Amino acid sequence: MLRLQKLSKTYKTGDQALTAIDLDVPKGQVLALIGPSGAGKSTMIRCINRLVEPTGGAVLLDEVDLTGLGPGRLRKARREMGMIFQEYALVERLTVMENVLSGRLGYVGFWRSFLRRYPQSDVDAAFRLLDRVGLLHMADKRADELSGGQRQRVGICRALIQQPKLLLVDEPTASLDPKTSRQIMRLITELCQERGLAAIINIHDVALAQMFVPRVVGLRLGEIVYDGLPTGLTPDK
Ligand code: ADP
Ligand code: ADP
Repeated sequence: MLRLQKLSKTYKTGDQALTAIDLDVPKGQVLALIGPSGAGKSTMIRCINRLVEPTGGAVLLDEVDLTGLGPGRLRKARREMGMIFQEYALVERLTVMENVLSGRLGYVGFWRSFLRRYPQSDVDAAFRLLDRVGLLHMADKRADELSGGQRQRVGICRALIQQPKLLLVDEPTASLDPKTSRQIMRLITELCQERGLAAIINIHDVALAQMFVPRVVGLRLGEIVYDGLPTGLTPDK
C-alpha cells in the first residue's frame, strides 16, 4: 500500500537526514520506527505526507507517487493519511468535539475549518469515535481542560475522522507517563486492527514498541539498520 523507493532528504543546512530508504508497508500493517534522536524518524514521517519535501526518491501510496503531485492532488492524498503528533496539536480553546471535527479538512485546514458548519453525519461520526476512545462525556469540554492522555485520544479521533488508510504517528507517547503511554499504544494498535489501517509509529521507547507492534524498523543516521520482528532486536539497536 505504501512504498518508499530510495527516499532521501538532505536539509538546506547540509544535514543528510535520510539516505535512499526503501520500505514497503502492506495494507493494515502497523510498524514501529525506532532509532536514536537524530536518526531521521521524524523526517521520514514528514516526507511521506510532504510536510517536509524529499530531495530524492519516491513515495508511492497505492501506486501513486506523492512526490510529483501538485497542491490540489496532494491535499486529496493527505486525506488518506492521518497524522498524530507528540504534543497533540489541539486547538486549546476549542472543544473536544470541534477539535475532532477539524480533522475533516485534514491538518492543513485547522483554522479554516471553524468557519464551516459540519453535516450531521460528521458530527455523528465524531460522537462514535469519542465513544470508542472513552471520551464521549468530554465532548463539550475545552481541550485545555484535558489531561495529556485525554488530549492524545482526541488527537487520535481527529486523525481517524477523515477515514485514512494510513496513520503517521510521531512520538505519540513522548509527553505521557508510562501507564498512559501503554494505554495510548494499545488504543492506536487496536483501532488500526479494527479498521484495517496501516500505521507507522515513530517511537523512541523500544520496550513499548515491542509490546504492541509486529514489525520494527530501526533507523540510524538516515539508514535502515533493522527490519523485522520486535523480538529480534538486540539492546544496542
Ligand atoms: P526530535 O525530537 O524529533 O528529534 P528536535 O528536538 O531534534 O526533534 O527538533 C525540533 C525541531 O527542530 C524539529 O521541527 C526539527 O525539524 C527541527 N530541527 C532539528 N534539527 C535541526 C537542525 N539541525 N537545523 C534546523 N532545524 C532542526
Ligand atoms: P529523529 O526524528 O530520528 O530524531 P530527525 O528526522 O528529527 O531525527 O533528524 C534527522 C537529522 O536531520 C538530524 O541530523 C537533524 O539535525 C536533521 N534535521 C531535522 N530537521 C531539520 C531541519 N528542519 N533543518 C535541518 N536539519 C534538520
